[in-house]
Amino acid sequence: MDHRHLLPNEIDLLVDGEAGFGVAPLRAHLAECGDCRARYDELRIVAESLEALPHFTPSLRFADTVMREVQVVEPWHVALTEGARRLVPRSTPMRVLAGAGAGAAALAISGSAAWLAFRGDLAGWVVNLFVDRTRQTIVTGAGEVASSALGADATSALASGGLATLAISTVVLAAAAAGAVLGFRRLAATARAARG
Ligand SMILES: [Zn+2]
Repeated sequence: MDHRHLLPNEIDLLVDGEAGFGVAPLRAHLAECGDCRARYDELRIVAESLEALPHFTPSLRFADTVMREVQVVEPWHVALTEGARRLVPRSTPMRVLAGAGAGAAALAISGSAAWLAFRGDLAGWVVNLFVDRTRQTIVTGAGEVASSALGADATSALASGGLATLAISTVVLAAAAAGAVLGFRRLAATARAARG
């Protein structure tokens, strides 16, 4: 006979009524050992009670229903990373488009910050340097439209007060338009490639 008591999985085998080559020595130990027989009897009562319970299966959506009610706590950095990843579009053309939009927004924000910080003087000077010709064209054109519609006063007001604002808006609009055109061209190219 064995000099050790039965292991839990060996008692399981006996309760399940296994009949194999290795089971006979286990039964022999059970017949001689009171401790193991007591554990076996307890387990058999539990197994028979469970077997007597009505059998049913949970619905197929049971796990989903439970998990919908479970509040999964995410660390803040995981939530932040996932959130940022969800904001990035999957297709390359949409990424270009989103990048152009984000770039234009960043440009507008930095432009506004510079405008607020320097009261428009320095920003106006820098922008004037870059878009002098554009400004001249726009102001002249807008001035002609304004003077024909509102009179000469509107022209001077437009030229003095709104000049720097107009120039900044022009730059931001041009950048956004260029980004959008690039994105749309990539979209069209992808669509053509998919069709062909
Ligand atoms: Zn034993």
